[in-house]
Amino acid sequence: MIPEAAKELKERGIRLTRQRQLLLDLLDKTGQHLDAEHLYRLAHQQDPKLNRVTVYRTLKLLKEGGLVDELDLMHQTGDQHFYETKTKQEHAHVICLRCGKVEEFFGEPLQKLRRQVESHFGFQILIARTEIGGYCAHCQVLRAQEVNQAREEESSRPAKPARLPGRRHG
Ligand SMILES: [Zn+2]
Ligand SMILES: [Zn+2]
Repeated sequence: MIPEAAKELKERGIRLTRQRQLLLDLLDKTGQHLDAEHLYRLAHQQDPKLNRVTVYRTLKLLKEGGLVDELDLMHQTGDQHFYETKTKQEHAHVICLRCGKVEEFFGEPLQKLRRQVESHFGFQILIARTEIGGYCAHCQVLRAQEVNQAREEESSRPAKPARLPGRRHG
């Protein structure tokens, strides 16, 4: 169990039940970005009595308690949301829009950006989330092949007659 997490929850008057602790530990241990369903499946293996509703409710609670961050990761997989604990240092998520791979970028540039935004706008930042979408090295190669292939198919097809504008009524 993360000691600061327990303290934070206590300060907010949230009791850290065994099930809540289990979910928090799972998120922390996997170090991945899990969606609620994935987390439910992992948790269920350890505690068969745990049900989906509890998992969803607990995630909401942990999010409100500031212990867990909710991410949409560029909606790469639809409107699914992903969760990670806030024990990690601030990082940007670099998402491949083709294969869905997520990398984490840590480093000083993020803190620098934060400080610049704060001083520029006189803004107090509570939360910062950086997401970068594009193609990973592997997918860039595959993309290039796909584009070439599409072009070849296009050029081997007989030329289509120019489409006539739709007929107007009246
Ligand atoms: Zn990729
Ligand atoms: Zn992350």
